[in-house]
Amino acid sequence: MEWTCGGSHIAISEVKDGKIIEKTQRKITDEDRIDILDVIEETIIENVKKILNNTEEKLESIGIAVPGIVSNGVINKCVNLGIKDYDIVDRLNKKFIKYANENRKQERFKSLPVQIKLQNDAKCAAIAESKYGVLQEYESSIFLTLGTGIGGAVIVEGKLLEGKCFSGYEFGHMTINVNGELCKCGKKGCFELYGSMKYFKRNFKERLGLSQFTHSEQLLDLLKYDMALEKHDERIKQVIDEYTQSLAIGISNLINIFEPEAIGIGGSFTYFEEFLLKNLKEKILNGNLLFNPRNDIIIKSALLKNDAGIIGASML
Ligand SMILES: [Zn+2]
Repeated sequence: MEWTCGGSHIAISEVKDGKIIEKTQRKITDEDRIDILDVIEETIIENVKKILNNTEEKLESIGIAVPGIVSNGVINKCVNLGIKDYDIVDRLNKKFIKYANENRKQERFKSLPVQIKLQNDAKCAAIAESKYGVLQEYESSIFLTLGTGIGGAVIVEGKLLEGKCFSGYEFGHMTINVNGELCKCGKKGCFELYGSMKYFKRNFKERLGLSQFTHSEQLLDLLKYDMALEKHDERIKQVIDEYTQSLAIGISNLINIFEPEAIGIGGSFTYFEEFLLKNLKEKILNGNLLFNPRNDIIIKSALLKNDAGIIGASML
């Protein structure tokens, strides 16, 4: 069983051998946010009961993919949900013990509570993509999620690298412009301020004078329309060039440190891949950014898309 929460919804699935058996989602409403911890716990517990009532199989573990920083069963910070120092594992276990005690006669509830593991959602996605997705052929890889922010992970010899003091691998907050804009983390010029898809879309809308409410689908249509033209819109070319240049700087820094065999990119980047990926690769290879020059670099778009976090959490 796995739970994932991207700040806008809670998704729960039964996962077996990397395959999603059944998935349910709950949109987080403004009302839910008032008592978000209870909403999260009740949603998980209700769904665990439902799964246990519909299967003869034993529940082995619960994995939770969190869009934030986690350590030792605690969600330290989840900005999108306004959560801080939330001891979710302990609170869930207490509720499971209570529920199991009330239902002792029912054999399948005897395994409650089960082991509950937490991990950051980008790291979960990386684990899943390296075992079942786009990075499965490679022993050493880097995975990035480009969405509202930038998350990521490094896999070496099939294993996720983790920090000792803190969770680490905060790619989104490496400085790429020391005099840059102020980031919500308190530093200036962080990679995610220039390399996130949020930035790309905002810049795209501003340059073309589009409303800030323009949907991603409309941006994609504009890109497709422009691609079919003989003479391309110079403004679109500039938006793409600036964005891929920032991405190239951040990703080259990671290549120089980890020298991976391949890089996987997930998040909403995957929908815009055909307009960005080739440009990005050219900038990395030809932009004088690599310490060890390469003839080619393998960068692939994620395969498991929105399910990567859930599948990865089931593998913790
Ligand atoms: Zn930052």
